[in-house]
Amino acid sequence: MSEFKSLDLMPSIQAAIKEKGYTTPTPIQAQSIPHLLKGKDLLGIAQTGTGKTAAFALPILNRLGNNKVKVRPARVRCLILTPTRELASQIEQNIKVYGKGLKIFSAVVFGGVGYRPQIQNMSRGVDILVATPGRLLDLMSDGHVIYDQLEVFVLDEADRMLDMGFFRDVKKIIAKLPKNKQTLLFSATMPADIASLATSLLKDPVRVEVTPQATTVEKIEQTINLVEATHKPLLLNDLLKDPAFKSVLVFTRTKHGANKVVRNLERVSIVAAAIHGNKSQGARERALGDFRSGKIKVLIATDIAARGIDIPNVSHVINYNLPEQPESYVHRIGRTARAGREGVAISFCDQSEVKLLKGIEKFIKFKVPIDKTHPYHGAPVKVLQKPQAKGNATRGPKRNKKKRTGSSQNR
Ligand code: AMP
Repeated sequence: MSEFKSLDLMPSIQAAIKEKGYTTPTPIQAQSIPHLLKGKDLLGIAQTGTGKTAAFALPILNRLGNNKVKVRPARVRCLILTPTRELASQIEQNIKVYGKGLKIFSAVVFGGVGYRPQIQNMSRGVDILVATPGRLLDLMSDGHVIYDQLEVFVLDEADRMLDMGFFRDVKKIIAKLPKNKQTLLFSATMPADIASLATSLLKDPVRVEVTPQATTVEKIEQTINLVEATHKPLLLNDLLKDPAFKSVLVFTRTKHGANKVVRNLERVSIVAAAIHGNKSQGARERALGDFRSGKIKVLIATDIAARGIDIPNVSHVINYNLPEQPESYVHRIGRTARAGREGVAISFCDQSEVKLLKGIEKFIKFKVPIDKTHPYHGAPVKVLQKPQAKGNATRGPKRNKKKRTGSSQNR
Protein backbone atom coordinates (compact mmCIF):
# COMPACT_ATOMS: atom_id res chain seq x y z
CA MET A 1 0.00 0.00 0.00
CA SER A 2 1.73 3.13 -1.09
CA GLU A 3 -0.68 6.03 -0.67
CA PHE A 4 -3.92 6.89 1.10
CA LYS A 5 -5.40 7.74 -2.30
CA SER A 6 -5.43 4.05 -3.23
CA LEU A 7 -7.61 3.21 -0.20
CA ASP A 8 -11.31 3.07 -0.76
CA LEU A 9 -12.19 5.92 1.61
CA MET A 10 -14.88 8.55 1.10
CA PRO A 11 -13.74 11.82 -0.55
CA SER A 12 -14.38 13.87 2.59
CA ILE A 13 -12.21 11.50 4.65
CA GLN A 14 -9.49 11.63 1.99
CA ALA A 15 -9.65 15.42 2.17
CA ALA A 16 -9.33 15.39 5.97
CA ILE A 17 -6.29 13.10 5.77
CA LYS A 18 -4.71 15.39 3.22
CA GLU A 19 -5.41 18.42 5.35
CA LYS A 20 -3.79 16.68 8.30
CA GLY A 21 -0.70 16.25 6.12
CA TYR A 22 -0.63 12.45 5.92
CA THR A 23 0.36 11.02 2.56
CA THR A 24 1.43 7.45 3.27
CA PRO A 25 -0.38 5.06 5.59
CA THR A 26 1.71 3.74 8.47
CA PRO A 27 2.23 -0.06 8.45
CA ILE A 28 -0.69 -0.71 10.79
CA GLN A 29 -2.95 1.49 8.68
CA ALA A 30 -1.85 -0.16 5.44
CA GLN A 31 -2.41 -3.62 6.86
CA SER A 32 -5.69 -2.96 8.68
CA ILE A 33 -7.74 -0.47 6.71
CA PRO A 34 -8.53 -2.61 3.63
CA HIS A 35 -9.79 -5.47 5.85
CA LEU A 36 -11.71 -3.18 8.16
CA LEU A 37 -13.42 -1.57 5.17
CA LYS A 38 -14.69 -5.03 4.29
CA GLY A 39 -16.19 -5.39 7.77
CA LYS A 40 -13.64 -7.89 9.14
CA ASP A 41 -12.81 -8.22 12.83
CA LEU A 42 -9.26 -7.30 13.77
CA LEU A 43 -6.68 -8.23 16.35
CA GLY A 44 -4.10 -5.44 16.33
CA ILE A 45 -0.92 -5.96 18.26
CA ALA A 46 0.35 -2.45 18.32
CA GLN A 47 0.90 0.41 20.69
CA THR A 48 0.27 4.10 20.54
CA GLY A 49 2.63 5.94 18.25
CA THR A 50 2.11 3.52 15.37
CA GLY A 51 -0.84 5.43 13.90
CA LYS A 52 -3.37 2.95 15.24
CA THR A 53 -6.00 5.62 15.97
CA ALA A 54 -6.39 6.45 12.29
CA ALA A 55 -6.14 2.73 11.48
CA PHE A 56 -9.47 2.16 13.22
CA ALA A 57 -11.03 5.63 13.04
CA LEU A 58 -10.88 6.03 9.26
CA PRO A 59 -12.71 2.80 8.32
CA ILE A 60 -15.25 3.35 11.10
CA LEU A 61 -16.02 6.84 9.84
CA ASN A 62 -16.22 5.48 6.33
CA ARG A 63 -18.71 2.82 7.39
CA LEU A 64 -20.92 5.14 9.41
CA GLY A 65 -20.64 8.00 6.93
CA ASN A 66 -21.58 5.82 3.97
CA ASN A 67 -24.62 4.44 5.69
CA LYS A 68 -26.32 7.17 7.68
CA VAL A 69 -29.03 5.99 10.03
CA LYS A 70 -31.00 7.90 12.59
CA VAL A 71 -29.54 7.27 16.01
CA ARG A 72 -32.23 7.00 18.64
CA PRO A 73 -31.87 8.51 22.13
CA ALA A 74 -29.18 6.83 24.29
CA ARG A 75 -28.05 4.71 21.34
CA VAL A 76 -24.52 4.42 19.93
CA ARG A 77 -23.45 3.04 16.57
CA CYS A 78 -19.81 2.63 17.53
CA LEU A 79 -18.24 2.23 20.96
CA ILE A 80 -14.52 2.80 21.49
CA LEU A 81 -13.37 1.72 24.91
CA THR A 82 -9.99 3.01 26.06
CA PRO A 83 -8.27 3.00 29.48
CA THR A 84 -7.40 6.63 30.18
CA ARG A 85 -9.15 9.95 29.96
CA GLU A 86 -6.32 11.46 27.96
CA LEU A 87 -6.49 8.71 25.36
CA ALA A 88 -10.25 9.02 25.19
CA SER A 89 -10.06 12.78 24.52
CA GLN A 90 -7.26 12.31 22.02
CA ILE A 91 -9.16 9.66 20.09
CA GLU A 92 -12.31 11.74 19.99
CA GLN A 93 -10.39 14.79 18.81
CA ASN A 94 -8.91 12.73 15.99
CA ILE A 95 -12.35 11.42 15.05
CA LYS A 96 -13.64 14.99 14.84
CA VAL A 97 -10.75 15.94 12.55
CA TYR A 98 -11.00 12.89 10.26
CA GLY A 99 -14.79 13.04 10.22
CA LYS A 100 -15.05 16.74 9.41
CA GLY A 101 -17.88 17.30 6.96
CA LEU A 102 -19.45 13.88 7.52
CA LYS A 103 -22.05 14.99 10.06
CA ILE A 104 -21.10 12.12 12.33
CA PHE A 105 -21.83 12.95 15.92
CA SER A 106 -19.21 11.81 18.43
CA ALA A 107 -18.95 12.15 22.19
CA VAL A 108 -16.49 11.25 24.91
CA VAL A 109 -17.23 10.07 28.44
CA PHE A 110 -14.81 9.58 31.32
CA GLY A 111 -14.76 10.03 35.05
CA GLY A 112 -13.51 13.01 37.02
CA VAL A 113 -15.73 15.48 35.17
CA GLY A 114 -19.42 16.36 35.40
CA TYR A 115 -21.97 13.63 34.77
CA ARG A 116 -24.80 15.91 33.56
CA PRO A 117 -23.33 17.08 30.24
CA GLN A 118 -22.48 13.46 29.39
CA ILE A 119 -26.07 12.42 30.05
CA GLN A 120 -27.27 15.30 27.90
CA ASN A 121 -25.04 14.21 25.00
CA MET A 122 -26.27 10.67 25.30
CA SER A 123 -29.90 11.71 25.42
CA ARG A 124 -29.72 12.55 21.71
CA GLY A 125 -27.85 9.37 20.82
CA VAL A 126 -24.38 9.45 19.26
CA ASP A 127 -22.73 7.83 16.27
CA ILE A 128 -19.38 7.29 17.95
CA LEU A 129 -18.87 7.12 21.70
CA VAL A 130 -15.33 7.08 23.12
CA ALA A 131 -15.33 6.02 26.76
CA THR A 132 -13.34 4.83 29.73
CA PRO A 133 -14.90 1.81 31.45
CA GLY A 134 -15.90 3.15 34.89
CA ARG A 135 -17.96 6.12 33.78
CA LEU A 136 -19.44 4.19 30.90
CA LEU A 137 -20.71 1.52 33.30
CA ASP A 138 -22.30 4.24 35.46
CA LEU A 139 -24.07 5.69 32.44
CA MET A 140 -25.13 2.23 31.28
CA SER A 141 -26.57 1.23 34.63
CA ASP A 142 -28.57 4.46 34.71
CA GLY A 143 -29.98 3.63 31.28
CA HIS A 144 -28.16 6.39 29.40
CA VAL A 145 -26.30 4.11 26.98
CA ILE A 146 -28.12 1.40 25.05
CA TYR A 147 -26.57 -0.86 22.47
CA ASP A 148 -29.33 -2.09 20.19
CA GLN A 149 -27.97 0.07 17.36
CA LEU A 150 -24.35 -0.85 17.90
CA GLU A 151 -22.42 -1.79 14.76
CA VAL A 152 -18.76 -1.50 15.72
CA PHE A 153 -16.89 -2.09 18.97
CA VAL A 154 -13.23 -1.15 19.53
CA LEU A 155 -11.37 -2.31 22.60
CA ASP A 156 -8.23 -0.19 22.72
CA GLU A 157 -5.13 -0.87 24.83
CA ALA A 158 -6.57 -4.10 26.19
CA ASP A 159 -3.41 -4.98 28.12
CA ARG A 160 -3.51 -1.62 29.90
CA MET A 161 -7.09 -2.27 30.89
CA LEU A 162 -5.85 -5.43 32.53
CA ASP A 163 -2.93 -3.63 34.26
CA MET A 164 -5.20 -0.91 35.55
CA GLY A 165 -7.67 -3.37 37.04
CA PHE A 166 -10.44 -2.51 34.55
CA PHE A 167 -10.79 -5.97 33.15
CA ARG A 168 -13.91 -6.89 35.09
CA ASP A 169 -15.58 -3.66 34.05
CA VAL A 170 -14.60 -4.31 30.45
CA LYS A 171 -16.12 -7.77 30.57
CA LYS A 172 -19.31 -6.39 32.09
CA ILE A 173 -19.59 -3.91 29.24
CA ILE A 174 -18.85 -6.55 26.60
CA ALA A 175 -21.60 -8.75 28.04
CA LYS A 176 -24.14 -6.02 27.20
CA LEU A 177 -23.10 -5.65 23.57
CA PRO A 178 -24.99 -7.35 20.76
CA LYS A 179 -23.38 -10.47 19.27
CA ASN A 180 -23.61 -9.25 15.74
CA LYS A 181 -21.09 -6.46 15.28
CA GLN A 182 -17.64 -5.68 13.92
CA THR A 183 -15.05 -5.94 16.69
CA LEU A 184 -11.50 -4.59 16.84
CA LEU A 185 -9.14 -5.38 19.69
CA PHE A 186 -5.84 -3.56 20.13
CA SER A 187 -3.18 -4.49 22.62
CA ALA A 188 0.54 -3.81 22.79
CA THR A 189 1.19 -7.16 24.43
CA MET A 190 -0.73 -10.43 24.51
CA PRO A 191 -0.95 -11.79 28.06
CA ALA A 192 -3.02 -14.97 28.45
CA ASP A 193 -6.14 -13.12 29.66
CA ILE A 194 -6.17 -10.91 26.57
CA ALA A 195 -5.51 -13.82 24.24
CA SER A 196 -8.49 -15.71 25.62
CA LEU A 197 -10.67 -12.61 25.50
CA ALA A 198 -9.66 -12.14 21.85
CA THR A 199 -10.62 -15.72 21.07
CA SER A 200 -14.06 -15.32 22.58
CA LEU A 201 -14.70 -11.84 21.23
CA LEU A 202 -13.39 -11.87 17.67
CA LYS A 203 -14.85 -13.74 14.71
CA ASP A 204 -12.24 -14.96 12.24
CA PRO A 205 -10.13 -11.85 12.82
CA VAL A 206 -7.33 -10.46 10.70
CA ARG A 207 -4.23 -10.34 12.87
CA VAL A 208 -1.92 -7.39 12.39
CA GLU A 209 1.24 -7.06 14.41
CA VAL A 210 3.36 -3.95 14.38
CA THR A 211 6.43 -3.93 16.56
CA PRO A 212 7.69 -0.61 17.86
CA GLN A 213 10.35 0.67 15.55
CA ALA A 214 13.69 -0.55 16.83
CA THR A 215 15.37 2.32 15.03
CA THR A 216 13.55 4.78 17.27
CA VAL A 217 15.05 3.15 20.32
CA GLU A 218 18.48 3.01 18.76
CA LYS A 219 18.42 6.72 18.07
CA ILE A 220 18.02 7.49 21.75
CA GLU A 221 21.08 7.95 23.89
CA GLN A 222 20.42 5.64 26.81
CA THR A 223 22.24 5.26 30.11
CA ILE A 224 21.71 3.51 33.41
CA ASN A 225 22.54 5.35 36.60
CA LEU A 226 23.11 2.89 39.40
CA VAL A 227 21.98 4.59 42.55
CA GLU A 228 20.70 3.74 45.99
CA ALA A 229 16.96 4.28 46.30
CA THR A 230 17.48 6.95 48.97
CA HIS A 231 19.79 8.91 46.69
CA LYS A 232 17.41 9.09 43.75
CA PRO A 233 15.98 12.51 44.72
CA LEU A 234 19.47 13.97 45.04
CA LEU A 235 20.54 12.52 41.71
CA LEU A 236 17.45 13.93 40.03
CA ASN A 237 18.09 17.40 41.47
CA ASP A 238 21.65 17.18 40.30
CA LEU A 239 20.73 16.24 36.74
CA LEU A 240 18.09 18.94 36.45
CA LYS A 241 20.62 21.65 37.24
CA ASP A 242 22.08 21.08 33.79
CA PRO A 243 20.48 23.58 31.36
CA ALA A 244 20.53 20.94 28.62
CA PHE A 245 17.60 19.29 30.46
CA LYS A 246 15.05 21.59 28.85
CA SER A 247 11.92 19.49 28.81
CA VAL A 248 12.07 16.45 31.03
CA LEU A 249 9.55 13.67 31.42
CA VAL A 250 10.14 11.69 34.62
CA PHE A 251 8.47 8.32 35.05
CA THR A 252 7.66 6.88 38.44
CA ARG A 253 6.06 3.55 39.21
CA THR A 254 3.29 4.83 41.47
CA LYS A 255 1.07 7.88 41.88
CA HIS A 256 2.40 8.33 45.38
CA GLY A 257 5.95 8.20 44.01
CA ALA A 258 5.09 10.86 41.45
CA ASN A 259 3.78 13.23 44.14
CA LYS A 260 6.86 12.62 46.23
CA VAL A 261 9.15 13.57 43.35
CA VAL A 262 7.20 16.80 42.80
CA ARG A 263 7.56 17.68 46.49
CA ASN A 264 11.28 16.94 46.45
CA LEU A 265 11.78 19.14 43.42
CA GLU A 266 9.74 21.94 44.96
CA ARG A 267 12.17 21.94 47.89
CA VAL A 268 14.96 22.91 45.53
CA SER A 269 12.74 25.40 43.67
CA ILE A 270 12.25 23.34 40.54
CA VAL A 271 8.71 23.76 39.31
CA ALA A 272 7.25 20.41 38.32
CA ALA A 273 3.81 18.87 37.99
CA ALA A 274 2.54 15.34 38.12
CA ILE A 275 -0.05 13.60 35.98
CA HIS A 276 -1.66 10.45 37.29
CA GLY A 277 -5.02 8.88 37.92
CA ASN A 278 -5.66 10.64 41.23
CA LYS A 279 -5.39 14.08 39.68
CA SER A 280 -8.53 15.75 38.42
CA GLN A 281 -9.01 15.97 34.69
CA GLY A 282 -8.49 19.73 34.88
CA ALA A 283 -5.23 19.39 36.83
CA ARG A 284 -3.90 16.85 34.34
CA GLU A 285 -4.78 18.96 31.34
CA ARG A 286 -3.26 22.05 32.95
CA ALA A 287 -0.04 20.20 33.76
CA LEU A 288 0.20 18.86 30.22
CA GLY A 289 -0.53 22.27 28.73
CA ASP A 290 2.12 23.93 30.91
CA PHE A 291 4.64 21.28 29.97
CA ARG A 292 3.88 21.51 26.26
CA SER A 293 4.20 25.30 26.32
CA GLY A 294 7.46 25.19 28.29
CA LYS A 295 6.00 26.90 31.35
CA ILE A 296 7.17 23.97 33.44
CA LYS A 297 10.19 21.98 32.42
CA VAL A 298 9.61 18.81 34.43
CA LEU A 299 6.57 16.59 34.16
CA ILE A 300 6.28 13.55 36.40
CA ALA A 301 4.08 10.76 35.10
CA THR A 302 3.07 7.20 35.76
CA ASP A 303 3.00 4.82 32.80
CA ILE A 304 -0.72 4.68 32.84
CA ALA A 305 -1.33 8.42 32.83
CA ALA A 306 1.27 9.04 30.15
CA ARG A 307 0.10 6.28 27.90
CA GLY A 308 -0.59 7.54 24.44
CA ILE A 309 -0.11 11.19 25.18
CA ASP A 310 1.54 12.99 22.35
CA ILE A 311 4.11 15.40 23.81
CA PRO A 312 6.56 16.77 21.30
CA ASN A 313 10.00 18.16 22.18
CA VAL A 314 10.84 16.07 25.21
CA SER A 315 14.60 16.53 25.59
CA HIS A 316 15.08 13.89 28.29
CA VAL A 317 13.18 10.96 29.67
CA ILE A 318 14.18 9.93 33.17
CA ASN A 319 13.06 6.61 34.54
CA TYR A 320 13.02 7.37 38.24
CA ASN A 321 11.84 3.80 38.72
CA LEU A 322 12.33 1.10 36.12
CA PRO A 323 9.08 -0.21 34.69
CA GLU A 324 7.79 -3.65 35.60
CA GLN A 325 7.19 -4.50 31.95
CA PRO A 326 10.08 -4.27 29.50
CA GLU A 327 7.70 -3.02 26.78
CA SER A 328 6.98 0.03 28.94
CA TYR A 329 10.66 0.93 28.84
CA VAL A 330 10.52 1.18 25.06
CA HIS A 331 7.30 3.09 25.28
CA ARG A 332 8.64 5.53 27.84
CA ILE A 333 11.93 6.32 26.18
CA GLY A 334 10.19 6.64 22.81
CA ARG A 335 8.77 9.91 24.15
CA THR A 336 12.07 11.61 23.60
CA ALA A 337 12.47 10.58 19.99
CA ARG A 338 9.15 11.65 18.55
CA ALA A 339 8.95 12.53 14.89
CA GLY A 340 12.50 11.49 14.13
CA ARG A 341 14.09 13.61 16.84
CA GLU A 342 16.86 12.16 18.88
CA GLY A 343 16.73 12.21 22.62
CA VAL A 344 18.28 11.12 25.87
CA ALA A 345 16.91 8.54 28.28
CA ILE A 346 18.41 8.07 31.73
CA SER A 347 17.25 5.23 33.94
CA PHE A 348 17.81 5.11 37.67
CA CYS A 349 18.38 1.60 38.92
CA ASP A 350 18.60 0.66 42.58
CA GLN A 351 19.37 -2.73 44.05
CA SER A 352 15.77 -3.88 43.93
CA GLU A 353 15.48 -3.03 40.23
CA VAL A 354 18.43 -4.98 38.88
CA LYS A 355 16.16 -7.83 37.84
CA LEU A 356 13.94 -5.42 35.93
CA LEU A 357 16.97 -4.01 34.17
CA LYS A 358 18.03 -7.49 33.07
CA GLY A 359 14.54 -8.08 31.67
CA ILE A 360 14.62 -4.79 29.76
CA GLU A 361 18.03 -5.50 28.29
CA LYS A 362 16.90 -8.91 27.17
CA PHE A 363 13.81 -7.39 25.56
CA ILE A 364 15.61 -4.60 23.72
CA LYS A 365 18.56 -6.90 22.92
CA PHE A 366 20.93 -4.21 24.01
CA LYS A 367 23.05 -3.68 27.08
CA VAL A 368 22.43 -0.15 28.23
CA PRO A 369 25.70 1.57 29.17
CA ILE A 370 26.20 2.46 32.81
CA ASP A 371 27.08 6.04 33.65
CA LYS A 372 29.68 5.84 36.37
CA THR A 373 30.40 9.53 36.41
CA HIS A 374 27.44 10.74 38.44
CA PRO A 375 28.08 11.50 42.14
CA TYR A 376 25.76 8.79 43.48
CA HIS A 377 27.07 5.90 41.43
CA GLY A 378 27.19 2.94 43.71
CA ALA A 379 25.07 0.26 45.26
CA PRO A 380 24.06 -2.36 42.72
CA VAL A 381 27.43 -2.47 40.97
CA LYS A 382 28.37 -5.67 42.75
CA VAL A 383 25.38 -7.48 41.34
CA LEU A 384 25.70 -6.20 37.82
CA GLN A 385 29.40 -6.35 37.21
CA LYS A 386 30.67 -9.34 39.07
CA PRO A 387 34.44 -9.69 38.73
CA GLN A 388 35.58 -6.11 39.19
CA ALA A 389 38.69 -4.82 40.85
CA LYS A 390 38.20 -5.80 44.47
CA GLY A 391 38.92 -2.37 45.91
CA ASN A 392 36.20 -0.71 43.83
CA ALA A 393 33.57 -3.31 44.47
CA THR A 394 33.66 -2.91 48.21
CA ARG A 395 34.26 0.77 48.30
CA GLY A 396 31.18 2.00 46.43
CA PRO A 397 28.45 0.59 48.66
CA LYS A 398 30.32 1.45 51.87
CA ARG A 399 30.65 5.04 50.84
CA ASN A 400 26.98 5.15 50.05
CA LYS A 401 25.95 3.61 53.32
CA LYS A 402 27.58 6.50 55.11
CA LYS A 403 25.67 8.98 52.99
CA ARG A 404 22.43 7.27 53.75
CA THR A 405 22.64 8.01 57.47
CA GLY A 406 22.60 11.70 56.76
CA SER A 407 19.76 11.47 54.27
CA SER A 408 16.23 12.50 55.07
CA GLN A 409 14.60 11.51 51.81
CA ASN A 410 11.91 9.26 53.16
CA ARG A 411 9.30 11.92 52.85
P1 AMP B 1 -1.37 7.09 17.21
O1 AMP B 1 -0.57 5.82 17.30
O2 AMP B 1 -2.69 6.88 16.56
O3 AMP B 1 -1.46 7.81 18.52
O4 AMP B 1 -0.59 8.08 16.21
C1 AMP B 1 0.68 8.60 16.52
C2 AMP B 1 0.99 9.87 15.76
O5 AMP B 1 1.17 9.60 14.36
C3 AMP B 1 -0.11 10.92 15.84
O6 AMP B 1 0.51 12.17 16.14
C4 AMP B 1 -0.73 10.93 14.47
O7 AMP B 1 -1.24 12.20 14.13
C5 AMP B 1 0.41 10.53 13.57
N1 AMP B 1 0.00 9.79 12.35
C6 AMP B 1 -0.94 8.83 12.26
N2 AMP B 1 -1.03 8.35 10.99
C7 AMP B 1 -0.11 9.01 10.27
C8 AMP B 1 0.30 8.95 8.88
N3 AMP B 1 -0.24 8.11 8.03
N4 AMP B 1 1.27 9.79 8.49
C9 AMP B 1 1.85 10.64 9.36
N5 AMP B 1 1.53 10.75 10.68
C10 AMP B 1 0.56 9.94 11.13
